[in-house]
Amino acid sequence: MASRKFFVGGNWKCNGTGEDVKKIVTVLNEAEVPSEDVVEVVVSPPFVFLQQVKGLLRPDFSVAAQNCWVRKGGAFTGEISAEMLVNLQVPWVILGHSERRALLEKLSDWTNVVLAYEPVWAIGTGKVATPAQAQEVHDGLRKWLQSNVSPAVAESTRIIYGGSVNGGNCKVLAAQPDVDGFLVGGASLKPEFVDIIKSAT
Ligand code: PGA
Repeated sequence: MASRKFFVGGNWKCNGTGEDVKKIVTVLNEAEVPSEDVVEVVVSPPFVFLQQVKGLLRPDFSVAAQNCWVRKGGAFTGEISAEMLVNLQVPWVILGHSERRALLEKLSDWTNVVLAYEPVWAIGTGKVATPAQAQEVHDGLRKWLQSNVSPAVAESTRIIYGGSVNGGNCKVLAAQPDVDGFLVGGASLKPEFVDIIKSAT
């Protein structure tokens, strides 16, 4: 874990109004958290609020879209292409979340990938994986990367846990050697998201 920077993603899902967005961003902007050398924080508002959040958010945090269209733009009503996200300077996107069941094409470059393990039974249920369960799966995923991609990619790729992470359970999970951060849903809309960011240290 030492060589991999802790990563905390806040997945706001389909929540909030313009007013809520301002409140959440104010809490984040005023929070004292470990420096960006220690933890990378990315929040993912619904598409319609992306620009607003990007404009208001502190510069050491960044934003992610919650999905994107897999192909080039064109006649695909309702879709948003990766090119559009790049054009808007949105540097991250959540792909293949189980709530979308999206298709993930074979990757040729893992440099900018963060892998999230989220047991479906833990998402939004309040039932969090035990630290041992999370560690076992993360270790398995890292071994999979080692044999199917490369040892270097296995060593450097951050594998984060998601599913009912909150301010109370983040510390013990973060202490696992192969848990390199979190993808947080419900708790990312609340001030306790700051405690989750702090679990990086
Ligand atoms: P949850 O969601 O933290 O509300 O369980 C996690 C996710 O779906 O990313």
